Amino acid sequence: MTTYQVNHYINGELQQSMQPRFADIYNPALGSVQGQVALGSEQDVNLAVAAAAKAFPAWSNTPALSRARVLMAYLNLLQQHTDEFANLLTKEHGKTLADAKGEVARGIEVVEFAIGIPQLLKGEYSEQIARGIDACSMRQPLGVVAGITPFNFPVMVPMWMFPIAIACGNTFILKPSERDPSASLLHAKLLKQAGLPDGVFNVVQGDKTVVDALLDHPEIQAISFVGSTPIAQAIYARGCANGKRVQALGGAKNHMVVMPDADLEMAVDALMGAAYGSAGERCMAISVAVAVGSAADALVDAMAARVKSLKINNGLVPDAEMGPVITHAAKERIESLIGEGVSEGAKLVVDGRNFKVPGHEQGFFCGGSLFDHVTPEMTVYKQEIFGPVLCVVRVPDMEAAADLINKHEYGNGVAVFTRDGGTAREFVRMIQVGMVGVNVPLPVPMAFHSFGGWKRSLFGDHHIYGPEGVRFYTRVKAVMQRWPDSISKGAEFSFPQNK
Ligand code: NAD
Repeated sequence: MTTYQVNHYINGELQQSMQPRFADIYNPALGSVQGQVALGSEQDVNLAVAAAAKAFPAWSNTPALSRARVLMAYLNLLQQHTDEFANLLTKEHGKTLADAKGEVARGIEVVEFAIGIPQLLKGEYSEQIARGIDACSMRQPLGVVAGITPFNFPVMVPMWMFPIAIACGNTFILKPSERDPSASLLHAKLLKQAGLPDGVFNVVQGDKTVVDALLDHPEIQAISFVGSTPIAQAIYARGCANGKRVQALGGAKNHMVVMPDADLEMAVDALMGAAYGSAGERCMAISVAVAVGSAADALVDAMAARVKSLKINNGLVPDAEMGPVITHAAKERIESLIGEGVSEGAKLVVDGRNFKVPGHEQGFFCGGSLFDHVTPEMTVYKQEIFGPVLCVVRVPDMEAAADLINKHEYGNGVAVFTRDGGTAREFVRMIQVGMVGVNVPLPVPMAFHSFGGWKRSLFGDHHIYGPEGVRFYTRVKAVMQRWPDSISKGAEFSFPQNK
């Protein structure tokens, strides 16, 4: 098999590592190595920061409308190259081609939003705040900023960051996941083709070494991170200690409450897609179904039949509903957590362990698994499994459901399925979670809103993309001005006040 090498992209050029070190890139459906990714060093980060710092003055002084026009050209190219992105995704991540195209589409929406940057950066103006004095406030870019992204959305999650960062006038360094790094270089190629000046967008491939160098580099002003909670927390702490602005989005355990009055068929369809789509490797995946009162038995029976008949295959097979998980280690971890669930007393209704796809015996496939009678003390309830495993927790009423969810350490997404408007309204009001769906299983906000969880699902003050993204990547300057013919005579030693 021919293999390929994925390198860095610095100052508009592909670059080899200064101190060569590599990791394997797997095809998860085949379980075989298909390429190598460079693991960068502190020197590679220094080069990227130097390029980004050099590009910043000209880029930040480019009118917002001209920056938006580069993004418009990039948008056209993204639309032309959607299939290429999707194929890369399926090959390196394993998700089905249809799911991969959905990911690209959600990324494109952020570019469409970022094109509105002249409008989004408009400041505020107050005339005559005192006699002869006007005031305004404006948002200006921060400088060199960096993004560190996870394996599960290698196209979309970087696009939650860099289109807005560069639209605001910053220059950007991306550190993609080393598991599926190729999409980062396709972004780089298309941005250059769209007319983005060299040095505005850079990619340094790698692992912890690169992340630490980014966190410690004094010229980097802000870091966006998306990944698991322990790493998010460490990155937030180190970035803040180094005086940087940090937003660090972490893991999740998303619940879907099914009320007794819910449309069962609709709830089952929703759970199937939300729990098993992308093999459960979504930060918004539903991993706990909270069955309220009499909803439980019918829900579990209907789900069991559907989970057993999931179509699991290489994501390139047209009717595949679910592909493999990302690595052999991920498969082993998922299967070991299922074992823990069994030993802790949960009822394993469908067992997806030791699943094999004919012709892909070495692939990292897990079958769909379904647990019933899960309780809050169990490991399978507490931990993010990040695989195709759904836990059903039975509760007597809505109060118990909300109490359960509010006590969980994570607060990324949640959904309630009901036909009762009053129940839904009360749920939305009292639930301690950042993104809430009412009869919508994956409430991922559109690009013109912002995305973010609560509790240990997000560290920092800003949600990502949308208006919060514009705030994160800019800082406010307040200006007060008067002109010589209106200056009153003499110095004033008392604190300025409106006269
Ligand atoms: P991860 O935390 O292992 O890796 C994320 C990034 O951090 C990668 O670029 C990786 O190279 C880097 N990294 C890994 N270990 C590091 C270390 N010790 N020090 C510094 N950097 C390190 O996450 P993952 O497995 O790639 O992605 C899955 C996780 O991401 C899940 O927990 C999922 O919930 C979360 N996620 C969250 C969101 C969200 O919006 N909240 C979105 C997508 C994924």
